[in-house]
Amino acid sequence: MLFRLSSLRAFPKYKHPQNAAFKGVFTQLKYKAGIKSNYSYFYGNNSRRLYTSYVYFDGKSTGPRFPFNAWYSSRYFTIGAAVLLFIGFTHIEKAPVTKRKRLMLCPQWLENKVGQMSYKSIMAEYGNYVLPDNSLTSIKVKNVMKRLIYAAQHYHDPETGEEQNLFEDMHTRSIPVTDWKIHVIDDVAMRRETPNAFVIGDGKVFVFRSILPLCANDDGLATVLSHELGHQLAHHIGEKITKSPFYITLNLISYSMFGSNNLGSLIVSLGLERPSSREMETEADYIGLMVMSSACFNPQKAPGFWSRMIDFEKQNGGSVPEFISTHPSSTRRIRNLTSWMPKAEQQNEMAGCGNLFQRFNTMSFF
Ligand SMILES: [Zn+2]
Repeated sequence: MLFRLSSLRAFPKYKHPQNAAFKGVFTQLKYKAGIKSNYSYFYGNNSRRLYTSYVYFDGKSTGPRFPFNAWYSSRYFTIGAAVLLFIGFTHIEKAPVTKRKRLMLCPQWLENKVGQMSYKSIMAEYGNYVLPDNSLTSIKVKNVMKRLIYAAQHYHDPETGEEQNLFEDMHTRSIPVTDWKIHVIDDVAMRRETPNAFVIGDGKVFVFRSILPLCANDDGLATVLSHELGHQLAHHIGEKITKSPFYITLNLISYSMFGSNNLGSLIVSLGLERPSSREMETEADYIGLMVMSSACFNPQKAPGFWSRMIDFEKQNGGSVPEFISTHPSSTRRIRNLTSWMPKAEQQNEMAGCGNLFQRFNTMSFF
């Protein structure tokens, strides 16, 4: 049987009186809610329009036209995307120890430059309060750090058992242990106690004296310093520099869509930036635990440092909730470190530190 296709329309062309009434109510509701047009729905009534729209003479609007609409239809977009993909695939590398794959576009010289600038600014601020090299505290801190550096330069891969230099594997200049600059800053004397420690590029280390009571012993200090060394070995600064243009681009896109920068930057920050930062922190914890175990420190003492950190946080106003923090909570760190303990013990054995004598060496208290 032959029939006209138009007779199969699901929706009749004529306006049903009920439909018309519904449409009228909807328009009224829209008006009451202050939604007057397509673009005010997207951008709010008071926001500036950031796109061009055209209204035909019959009153129909072309709707919002985002500035990037034209990009992906152009051949430049295709070429640009292909180039970016090529660069992306050729610059994927593995982080040391964890073998996590990530994009790395930051050249080593830029990372070193950031390190040199940080070193200068820290020295300008705290240089007068650096403890002398021959002070007992400096000597103890240096001994712990030097053992960690040596262990990272003679690390045993748990899978192959082969010895590897974690610095060289990541194309970093492997600086001889004796050439590292390790400074202890007496922030207690400054009356600006900030329990902290950091390792910056090109072999420079800062330890604030106020963190030493929290460390309690050499194993606790090794926990902190190996974590910082972990950041350095994994080039986390370079990874952050690599990611920052992507975050800026996403913020710009969200700004062009929502008009306001607050919502978009919040989404980018909570959804991408902070989880990525927490991932790097966890990675530094893992690398740190493996390196400190290879240096014959006692890995079992690492969770104890974070317990003391929890107490310290409680005394100083508590910690921020994990999902808005750039760091994993201390409780999560303890859970992670405990779950990695069998691997840490294996690393301890591979480095030949199974005897009690070496462990006794790590029992000096600050
Ligand atoms: Zn960290």
